[in-house]
Amino acid sequence: MKISILTLFPEMFAGPFEYSILKRAQKQELIEIELINIRDFGIGKHKLVDDTPYGGGAGMIMRVDVIDHTISNIKNKQSLSLRDEKSKRKRVILLDPKGKQFNQKKAKELAKFEHLVLIAGHYEGVDDRVRKYLVDESISIGDYVLTGGEIPAMVVVDAVVRLIPGVIKDESIKTESFSKPKVLEYPQYTKPRVYKKYSVPKVLLSGNHQAIELWRKNEALKETKRQRPETLKVTP
Ligand code: SAM
Repeated sequence: MKISILTLFPEMFAGPFEYSILKRAQKQELIEIELINIRDFGIGKHKLVDDTPYGGGAGMIMRVDVIDHTISNIKNKQSLSLRDEKSKRKRVILLDPKGKQFNQKKAKELAKFEHLVLIAGHYEGVDDRVRKYLVDESISIGDYVLTGGEIPAMVVVDAVVRLIPGVIKDESIKTESFSKPKVLEYPQYTKPRVYKKYSVPKVLLSGNHQAIELWRKNEALKETKRQRPETLKVTP
């Protein structure tokens, strides 16, 4: 998968993408991450990317023409023909607190695309014509407002990349929280067996695989009831 990230602050991505699973996935060429500086497509010698809002109000708004120009300059994966550009193999996404809330289901959906284009807004936000006419969808990572779309883009990339076949073991994904619809993962333990006065549940040390599986199922359900009871409600 190719992931193009349009941002005013490409340097912010240096740390998170250079460690652990994301680093390995790039090394194994399972993903290619391209950081594009929107400023390079800014207007005039000062490379302006934003302007004051029509109708008045605080802050600066990122310009639609600059973002459009940046999107048009993204190089497609060689395998993507012009026709494919408009097909389901490529998805252009605006990170936006007003967007649909991101979740594991959406991450799974996005993991199937060949090319993701993520646009990180900044300042007071982005001219609404970007959302209306330039992108396929807008995504929020939660009901709070961050300074910019860079951290949301990192969240989306991290959640999506680990679902790409070959990036991590299938087995790990199957039992994870939100993988089976609506149920959180069962509690996990490792050494030491006893820490201070707290012991690992005996059943996990029993070697009885059937009993362990049953215990995990029950605990997963209990954990979900305790932490996220709303997810177990049947929706009509
Ligand atoms: N004025 C906007 C509003 O009230 O909806 C908020 C703009 S925010 C300060 C600047 C940028 O950060 C947004 O354009 C978006 O790209 C990103 N951003 C902030 N919070 C976000 C969230 N919860 N999910 C996704 N992106 C977010």
